[in-house]
Amino acid sequence: MNQPLLSVKDLKTYFPTKKIFFNKERQVIKAVDGINFQVNKGETLGIVGESGCGKSTMGRSILRLIEPTEGSIKFEGKEVTTLNQKDLRKLRSNMQIVFQDPFASLNPKMTVGSILGEALATHQLGQSSKERKEKVKELLGKVGLSPIHIERYPHEFSGGQRQRIGIARAIAVNPALIIADEPVSALDVSVQAQILNLFQDLKETLGLTYIFIAHDLSVVKHVSDRIGVMYLGKIVELSDKKQLFQNPLHPYTQALISAVPTLDPDAKKDRIILSGDVPSPSSPPSGCAFHTRCMYRKNVCENVKPREITVSPGRLVNCHMYDEDYFVEFL
Ligand code: SF4
Repeated sequence: MNQPLLSVKDLKTYFPTKKIFFNKERQVIKAVDGINFQVNKGETLGIVGESGCGKSTMGRSILRLIEPTEGSIKFEGKEVTTLNQKDLRKLRSNMQIVFQDPFASLNPKMTVGSILGEALATHQLGQSSKERKEKVKELLGKVGLSPIHIERYPHEFSGGQRQRIGIARAIAVNPALIIADEPVSALDVSVQAQILNLFQDLKETLGLTYIFIAHDLSVVKHVSDRIGVMYLGKIVELSDKKQLFQNPLHPYTQALISAVPTLDPDAKKDRIILSGDVPSPSSPPSGCAFHTRCMYRKNVCENVKPREITVSPGRLVNCHMYDEDYFVEFL
């Protein structure tokens, strides 16, 4: 068994909402509500779910760009949640993030050379500005851009090129782990494949580990070794990619997979259409949070929260159908 690079236990990130006039109690949005997983060195864990399910908040909480409310995050065995600002800064050279919108995350007043040079200087990489300039040129080459781009500003690049700059900034500081938060969802489909291939190439050449967050299951399928499916702040199924696609267990996973388009005209798929919208995380349904949309729900689902069931090594599901205490209700 590989040594986990990252271990997340019972992670919760809650946001209090504004007090409503007649309401004595302040409401709480449970954006991340008790998440557990490990990521091994060199693997890609895909996290998929509809928008608003808490996957981006989870990614930012791991880096402490948003402070988690409870839980443990261990990176290379070291607890992240209790680090002071100085140690947190050091840790951030090991854990980087690539954002969805590269344009918003790049300073429009700085050239690409300055953006990447600044990342190197912040983490004391490169002795002199000349040395850093050489490193910047090298970085541009690694992400498929020409060194002649060094003096250009972000607005002079296409969306795909800007995302390459975002990736170059992330790898500039030699991280072990990159959290990619919807890194291709703002790009044209033709450019998406190029950026996904770049992620794959860099993983192999630099020995990187990824948490790859996306709402599109076909994108996550392309890059991941294992996949976690999120719904209303929880991972409802965690599995090896092949098993997840061959035999999805959770009804929500079944619905997501049924909606993935296939190029095989002989592949027969009955699309599962979920009724209703995703409930608000400020007032999640009782019992199983998915019960308002689930085609298999029973009375127990409305009243009792499902436990995390290990159905086989490394395969977890949050559903009463797989719980020996309740499965008879589904026969
Ligand atoms: Fe559906 Fe019940 Fe399973 Fe929830 S616990 S996913 S409602 S069958």
